[in-house]
Amino acid sequence: MDNQRVFNDLRNSLPTADVRLNEPLNVHTYTQMGGKADVFVFPSGAEDARAVVEYANEHDLPLTILGKGSNVIIQDGGIRGIVLNISTLDKIERTGDTVVAEAGARIIEVSEYALKQHLSGLEFACGIPGSVGGAVYMNAGAYGGEVADCLESVLGVTKDGQLVRRKAEELDLSYRHSNVDETGFLVLEATFQLKQGNYEEIKAIMDDLTFKRESKQPLEYPSCGSVFKRPPGLFAGKLIQDSGLQGTRIGGAEVSKKHAGFIVNIDNATATDYLDVIHHVQNTVKEKFSVDLEREVRVIGEPLKKKDSEQ
Ligand code: FAD
Repeated sequence: MDNQRVFNDLRNSLPTADVRLNEPLNVHTYTQMGGKADVFVFPSGAEDARAVVEYANEHDLPLTILGKGSNVIIQDGGIRGIVLNISTLDKIERTGDTVVAEAGARIIEVSEYALKQHLSGLEFACGIPGSVGGAVYMNAGAYGGEVADCLESVLGVTKDGQLVRRKAEELDLSYRHSNVDETGFLVLEATFQLKQGNYEEIKAIMDDLTFKRESKQPLEYPSCGSVFKRPPGLFAGKLIQDSGLQGTRIGGAEVSKKHAGFIVNIDNATATDYLDVIHHVQNTVKEKFSVDLEREVRVIGEPLKKKDSEQ
């Protein structure tokens, strides 16, 4: 790809978007790791976002969608093509008992908005640091609740730039999975069906979940949350703990001493360090318990090329 040409094209055709060349991605992820994006775009509105999808499709360029970067490990060689970060689309509003949120809004803020509106159903999301789009993509969930429980529909853009609405049932939502990726769909907006509730009761649930999260999770360090999915009938964290892996460190990445399901960036870890810890954990748990730990976090981008790392 001719990065400069793509940058110029997008700058000229989207004058109000924030288009950047060679953008460092570590500042856009929760793990604070990752190389650079060839071309990086913050759209100024939904139409900009749609136009970027259409442009990438027409020119056959790779397009990566980034939300808040809380469930991705971006490799040290960065991401080729265009990275579209929809964090700038963050409006939240109420219509009847539904809350409509743009995909770049934080799901935590949507949960807090619902509380202020005395609407119940999104309490589980009060500590999940991702965007609405990322939460739909991952069918994010916690403490017994998940997006699938209250998502009514999404508005989004198909690969070829068409604006369409999809009902939640069409997204094939299951444990930390949707078909958003397979269909190359960009989520622009989500509608959550909630129900009238009591402010104090909703707040009490959210306070309790926040207390549990803050007391158990190593939130003082950069991380991507739980690295692995729960194996059927088991807990990844318990298997890792019972394998004696807490505190295992490679470079700047370490299996958290506070919560074994987390790998934390304790000292300028590279994505390579982080992935090495992941592989070590997977191999050890497999050896000890014959269980395959499947990653929940997505790994995107490319590793550093040898000649780059030698420079
Ligand atoms: P990103 O990490 O930016 O992207 C994740 C994937 O979603 C990527 O493949 C991306 O392409 C895709 N994507 C993002 N936005 C869109 C869009 N608009 N359209 C199409 N695709 C899109 N997760 C839980 O489920 N439960 C938890 O309790 C939880 N706790 C966490 C705690 C911590 C401290 C951290 C760091 C993470 C935690 N997570 C948890 C993981 C993460 O917050 C969720 O998976 C979240 O939904 C990811 O959203 P994001 O915007 O950060 O997505």
